[in-house]
Amino acid sequence: MSICGGVAGRRGRNPVGIFIHNDAGSPNANAAFYRSWLQTHPLENGFAHYYVAADGILQAEDDANCAWHCGNLDGNLNYLSIEVCQSMGDINIFKDNEEKVLALAAQKCKQFGITPSNSTIRLHREVFATSCPHRSVEVHGGAAATKAYFINRISELMIGAAISTQSSSRVEMRDQTGTDNQRFYIEDAGNDYVRLKNKKTGLYLNVPAGEAKNDAVLQLYEKNNTDAQLWKIIYKSHGHAQYTLLEPKLAPGKYVSVENNGINGGVKVKLWDDLKSSKQKFWTKQADDGSYVFVHVYSLKAITAV
Ligand SMILES: [Zn+2]
Repeated sequence: MSICGGVAGRRGRNPVGIFIHNDAGSPNANAAFYRSWLQTHPLENGFAHYYVAADGILQAEDDANCAWHCGNLDGNLNYLSIEVCQSMGDINIFKDNEEKVLALAAQKCKQFGITPSNSTIRLHREVFATSCPHRSVEVHGGAAATKAYFINRISELMIGAAISTQSSSRVEMRDQTGTDNQRFYIEDAGNDYVRLKNKKTGLYLNVPAGEAKNDAVLQLYEKNNTDAQLWKIIYKSHGHAQYTLLEPKLAPGKYVSVENNGINGGVKVKLWDDLKSSKQKFWTKQADDGSYVFVHVYSLKAITAV
């Protein structure tokens, strides 16, 4: 169940558009902050469906439910709402967060058949006496310019945005291409765990049921809100070298491991005990859309949805 649990009611139909907000929050008000804030403050004071920050994307309410985000009945009932977080802090962090918001909006427009326009992409200040989205308006040179920018950018991003048309997908190690099947969004899931969402398929890296053990072959599945999709990204350094390990919540002490070190036909992505070797080491490379490519340090191949 979502954090907000449908408290603002169920819409019962697809959203007709998206409101984009700026949270007017401090540099520390990231996704992890909002996860706990929403659970310790009255939701009547307002909340949005999504909070997008430097540490990831927090979905606070299901798309099928309403949210109290704009003080306007039509807006609260019929629209999705996305907060660009950390809007009072560093400009580059804010701009990165805004771009991630627009990529998420593009994905949602595609999913719900929304064409970006003046009537579907909305600013909070259109319906309420507020400066929100204050920082976007400052950055883009006024409310009208901001709206035009949002509509154009979302339209552009929709060309590349994928929606899930399948419920599962295999993953393999493949040569790096930089394409969406090698890009993963790191979504904050609380308590230092994340979900890894493949951009092309919209599916999540998942430990198969009953397979939290050595030699388990990892796959991508639809979001299922179980521990099978929760991962810890462990950052290691060795001298001047840095890399990451991926540890599943279901099998602490085991790590994502590349079969045969990614050579001699080794394409499978498995779980294995800590080998303390390159089979389990990855570099994370951030792409311009805020997603990440997981590059195996030995074979230089990337985790790929196939
Ligand atoms: Zn707002």
